[in-house]
Amino acid sequence: MNPSPRLLLTIDYESWFSPSRRYDLLPPEKRFALDDNFCNQVIDPILEIFDGKKVSFYLVGELIDWYPDLPQKIANAGHEIGLHCQIHRPLTSEVEIEKDFKASAEWRKKYNVQGYRAPMINTIEAVYPLLEKYNFTYSSSIYAPSGNVLQKGKIQEVPVSTLPLLSKPKHFHAPRKMDIPLVIRGEFPYGSSMMSGLFRKIVFNIIEKELKAGMSPVIFLHPYEIISPENFIKKFAVDMLHNPLLYPFTLNKSAFLKDLLKNFPTSTMKDYLNEHSKS
Ligand SMILES: [Zn+2]
Repeated sequence: MNPSPRLLLTIDYESWFSPSRRYDLLPPEKRFALDDNFCNQVIDPILEIFDGKKVSFYLVGELIDWYPDLPQKIANAGHEIGLHCQIHRPLTSEVEIEKDFKASAEWRKKYNVQGYRAPMINTIEAVYPLLEKYNFTYSSSIYAPSGNVLQKGKIQEVPVSTLPLLSKPKHFHAPRKMDIPLVIRGEFPYGSSMMSGLFRKIVFNIIEKELKAGMSPVIFLHPYEIISPENFIKKFAVDMLHNPLLYPFTLNKSAFLKDLLKNFPTSTMKDYLNEHSKS
């Protein structure tokens, strides 16, 4: 028997500027100044919204250098802590991925991290042996229709959900990211917060349908989509001029999140996979 259907709601916990690529190569202290205490300030009110419901938080490791209390607060509220990356940037070469896993080793051990969510949901097949080597048990780093838990060596891959509108895909090799080929193949990546920003009602209805069909959709949100930073649009204006696709990330989705939590059961990814391996 499959685990009981639930919404696998995940939070990629990163600073407000992370959707833009303009800040990736700045010295850490400049990113710290840009964050301006945002990730520290919003964690308590965000945890309050979950009100006993458990989910998985994938953390950007450098936030722990800036705000050391952050992971313990999340763990104390009963949520799972996973790795998003040590420094938020594209991680699509083996060398860079390994560097990131090494840089996060200490805090991952301390918080018993088992899961990995690649930045921008963009990774390579070679990530899976590396995840094994660095003591992870699962990943959620590609897009694919819900209901697929893929075995990649010893690593389980639980993709962020898409809805296949044409035919069901059969191959699930990384990268499977948000790009033109994904859309041409007819997959609607409703698990992305970009889609819940633009099509809130449609995404809610798809989630409801998938749960009724016995599946457990995987979706993600970011902290700045739950509590909007002050002057977010103004701060992000130049970035949006360069890349108008960033706009949906600036929309506040707290009402959407509350709606999901009110209507659907959730659990951490880790608990879901534990039940899955017993079934
Ligand atoms: Zn991210």
